[in-house]
Amino acid sequence: MKKSEKLFAEARRLIPGGVNSPVRAWKSVGGTPRFISRGQGARITDVDGRNYVDYVGSWGPLIHGHAHPATVKAVQEAAARGTSYGAPTPGEVELAEEIHSAYPSIDKVRLVSSGTEATMSAIRVARAYTKRPGVLKFVGCYHGHVDSLLVKAGSGGATFGIPDSEGVPSAFTALTFTAEFNDLSAVEELLHVKGREIAALIVEPVVGNMGVVLPKTGFLEDLRKLTRRAGVLLVFDEVMTGFRLAKGGVQELTGIAPDLTCLGKIVGGGLPVGAFGGRSDVMDKLAPLGGAYQAGTLSGNPLAVAAGLATIRDLGPKSYARLETLGARLESALRKVLRERRVKAKLNRAGSMWTVFFGVDWVTNFAQAQAADSKAYAQFFHGMLERGFYLPPSQFEAAFLSLAHTEADIDATAEAAAEVLGRP
Ligand code: PMP
Repeated sequence: MKKSEKLFAEARRLIPGGVNSPVRAWKSVGGTPRFISRGQGARITDVDGRNYVDYVGSWGPLIHGHAHPATVKAVQEAAARGTSYGAPTPGEVELAEEIHSAYPSIDKVRLVSSGTEATMSAIRVARAYTKRPGVLKFVGCYHGHVDSLLVKAGSGGATFGIPDSEGVPSAFTALTFTAEFNDLSAVEELLHVKGREIAALIVEPVVGNMGVVLPKTGFLEDLRKLTRRAGVLLVFDEVMTGFRLAKGGVQELTGIAPDLTCLGKIVGGGLPVGAFGGRSDVMDKLAPLGGAYQAGTLSGNPLAVAAGLATIRDLGPKSYARLETLGARLESALRKVLRERRVKAKLNRAGSMWTVFFGVDWVTNFAQAQAADSKAYAQFFHGMLERGFYLPPSQFEAAFLSLAHTEADIDATAEAAAEVLGRP
């Protein structure tokens, strides 16, 4: 830990909080974040030479594990041809084609450099298309650090947005409405009262950002019906679930066609790529065809596109069957440990995304997630870390399996969890 400690001290001198994205600072679990020197397959190595089985996977992009050979090769070859031109490249057309074929609801797609840019731009084009100003989001869903989406709550289901972050004027979030996830009647009421002012309803169709929370049966289908009736565009934020729960994301699994979709993470194979796309008539509102301006110096960057193509071209039905097998094994092994140790906890899982919420029986929305015992999670996190298992450093983040994890990794994880949680 010595080198990590030293680096963290230096980093804090030069970088706010020592990190370039807040969760990396381990504020909610305490302790010194490990500085990582390399990753290979399902494992990462810190600067002090300790190895961990990694369940963060760069927060989702690394579905093949670290240093996936095809992705590394594609990036190396692309880099040798030049890193950026600011002009169109063949790879962008290929990636658009791959996205369109996995997501039939996406007639047209635009590439950006992060999930945040994808959601920000999707909201803008939805506003341009509908000529309405409002946005409806769910409490506890995270869509990047876009001003108008950095709103989590109001009590009582639905309210005018109050910004979550300093530096976001309340005027910027005054057009953001919120409802509790899985509460259809709140959405119905809001659309009834405010529907004509609302351009888009944005949702993580399977939530990763409260920890994993699943939609109740029929919830997403009903959102589709309600939004269509109200003339509100339905935006699936599949930045996390896209190419992860199925190649075509939650929309493939449910057969629901949103009007717009946001992608990120896996679509860039660990390099900075986001994407948003959907109906042609909506996307054609974007410049240069339409009046909604959106642009990026490094959008469709050739290295990032090469990484994305190599990553998603290596994903087929077998990949998702394998991830489900691994996920089910992990779920049943951890459930057994929790049961035998008489630990009150709820394990939520969707395919290769999972979260253990301590101290609660049920988590279907943000209020229930927040009722979880984050101190117990922090203890679990550190116990697992000591034994060489790197979990998300927060109760409210999804853990990820990759295709590089093995049955042996999972069994060892369950054994370590049994040790950490004590004798029955
Ligand atoms: N949407 C969702 C569902 C996300 O999980 C995230 C990031 N975790 C974002 C948007 C923002 O993506 P980025 O961090 O690439 O800006």
